[in-house]
Amino acid sequence: MPGIQVFTHINRLVQGRGAVAQLAEEVARFQARKVLVVTDPGLVATGIPARVVEALGGYSTHVYSDVEPDPSIQTVERCTAFVRQQGFDLVIGLGGGSAIDTAKCAAALASNEGAVESYLGIEKIPAAGLPKIIIPTTAGTGSEVTNVAVLSLKDQHTKKGIVSRQLFADVAILDPELTLGLPAAITAATGMDALTHAIEAYVSRFHQPLTDHFALEAIRLIGAHLRTAVHHGENLDAREAMLTASLYAGLAFGSAATGMVHGLAMPLGGQFEVPHGVANAMLLPYVMRFNLVAALERYRDIAVALGEPVAGLSVRDGAERSLSAVRQLAHDVGIPTLREMNIPPSAIDALARDGLSNSRQVLPNPRKVTYEGLVGILEEAFAAPASR
Ligand code: NAD
Repeated sequence: MPGIQVFTHINRLVQGRGAVAQLAEEVARFQARKVLVVTDPGLVATGIPARVVEALGGYSTHVYSDVEPDPSIQTVERCTAFVRQQGFDLVIGLGGGSAIDTAKCAAALASNEGAVESYLGIEKIPAAGLPKIIIPTTAGTGSEVTNVAVLSLKDQHTKKGIVSRQLFADVAILDPELTLGLPAAITAATGMDALTHAIEAYVSRFHQPLTDHFALEAIRLIGAHLRTAVHHGENLDAREAMLTASLYAGLAFGSAATGMVHGLAMPLGGQFEVPHGVANAMLLPYVMRFNLVAALERYRDIAVALGEPVAGLSVRDGAERSLSAVRQLAHDVGIPTLREMNIPPSAIDALARDGLSNSRQVLPNPRKVTYEGLVGILEEAFAAPASR
């Protein structure tokens, strides 16, 4: 009903430098004996899963790492089948959004029969699954606090979400030390993903005071710390600030939803295998340009949160500063353009049509979304000059 707002959140958040050392204590809360750690090969190469297994102490633990970036529904199906067959009683998702979303689905669907595909959409998972502990190692998706998992549908060249209360983590452990080794390009893409979450949540038609609070604080932290995290990855203060920003952005969009940056990034990622954060970052300024007139004061607030001086400016000019600040940030952290990613402009029609079908993003978007509007956004994004 109009005027009634719902804010959802997970039960337990453990955060701080070295927090992963508390893992065994957290597992003990669930009387679990057989534990599965879902991660990916890139993470295995860093040695982080081995550290996590060590932190688990005496639990019987298996590490499952057959997860690719932006995981396909088949990947999630395989992991779910493994969990169903092997009788685990707790699942740990360790990694970026790809490993986390795979773990969330596999844990939730362990006690629900049938194909993963049949759960795409909103609130289709009836039974509670296995307990899940989520440990992010990128500062971007906020998936540790959302009820969403995003899967790639390769045959349909797009991505879709499963949205369900059964996907909420039981515990999230945020340890910034785990993000210290994140390569610069992934730090940039995932940080811009978090910025996109926060901006889209702040201008969403479904925003509310709590989501506004988290969104603006996330934007402020990202504006202040993303450049340092990218260019001085060993800086633990910047890493910690970015992990907090990603968490706050997740808390914001988890209840306020995202808009058409995500609505277009999902088909872009699905058709051309562009990493999710890069897809969002490439589109963000152009969707902001389209939406600006529908939420001038909110975009001016975003400019302020990004540290732009707006005193003495009109609301319109202040709002414009949010755009230039985001463009500058994307440039400073090395986000490429659509042309640099070799995306052909001939894709515009299909991307716009697919974007328009994403009602989860169309409805919250502050400006009414039309096919022509989306084509205009994409044409401007394709016309962008090279970033370097
Ligand atoms: P990712 O999980 O795909 O990871 C990208 C790469 O970074 C991988 O190769 C991984 O091995 C590596 N990596 C991760 N942590 C590392 C570390 N600490 N050190 C070194 N390498 C590391 O990237 P992502 O951007 O975190 O997740 C993207 C996925 O999350 C997409 O599928 C996207 O659609 C989804 N997503 C989900 C939500 C949600 O709420 N569920 C929100 C946003 C995005």
